[in-house]
Amino acid sequence: MDNISAIIVAGGKGSRFSATQKKQFITLRNKEILAYSIEAFHKIAAISEIIVVCAPEDIDYVRNNICAKYSLDKVTKVIAGGKERQDSVYNALQVTTCEYVLIHDGVRPFITPQNILKAIETMLTKGSCVLGVPVKDTIKKCNPNTAEVLETVDRTMLYSIQTPQCFKTELIFHAHKYAKQSNICLTDDSALAELCGHKVFIVEGSYDNIKITTAEDLAVAENILQRRTLDS
Ligand code: C5P
Repeated sequence: MDNISAIIVAGGKGSRFSATQKKQFITLRNKEILAYSIEAFHKIAAISEIIVVCAPEDIDYVRNNICAKYSLDKVTKVIAGGKERQDSVYNALQVTTCEYVLIHDGVRPFITPQNILKAIETMLTKGSCVLGVPVKDTIKKCNPNTAEVLETVDRTMLYSIQTPQCFKTELIFHAHKYAKQSNICLTDDSALAELCGHKVFIVEGSYDNIKITTAEDLAVAENILQRRTLDS
């Protein structure tokens, strides 16, 4: 059995995005956002397989215009996703042959190989981990109807969670299967693992690992690229 698989989910329709193109295929300096995301995992020797999940109508485009174009030969499967992100991940979990999986959003192009390696190390010792960064803002709970503040949460305990989310395949596959059977839909994979009683650990990542969600994020992305070019 091969050891570590990267599952890159890119099956979103981009409904929060104003551009006409799906955000994962928008180019930053002539390269598609999805290509940046896949390349970071492609560089890691311990990753033997990459599965890309996309909308059925995009499979040929991803094969020809992303994987073949950038010689991403570790991408062994490009498969159709589902209605929600959780469905897309579940489809990939059903076809992986690896003992461990790293699940990553295709719209997070600034993940670094260094942080992937940090996450792999924790996953191998602890079973489950996610990248995250300490929240910078003060977070308050409020009444959704009146906007009255109910509580100011202790910020030292709060992290903003990113991807990759990394697991022993068996563990996260069963958590997803349980969620599917019970009609439970949560926002990330680790929440499903937690629901099934598994311990999940946070690996401190980088504030640059943004999820490109709205058109404003493209300006931030350009800034990050600019900084990286200056640093290299
Ligand atoms: O919608 P959201 O921003 O949470 O999407 C996070 C990631 O999940 C994106 O890379 C998106 O393409 C992917 N996704 C998916 N299948 C869906 C919905 C989202 O693969 N049905």
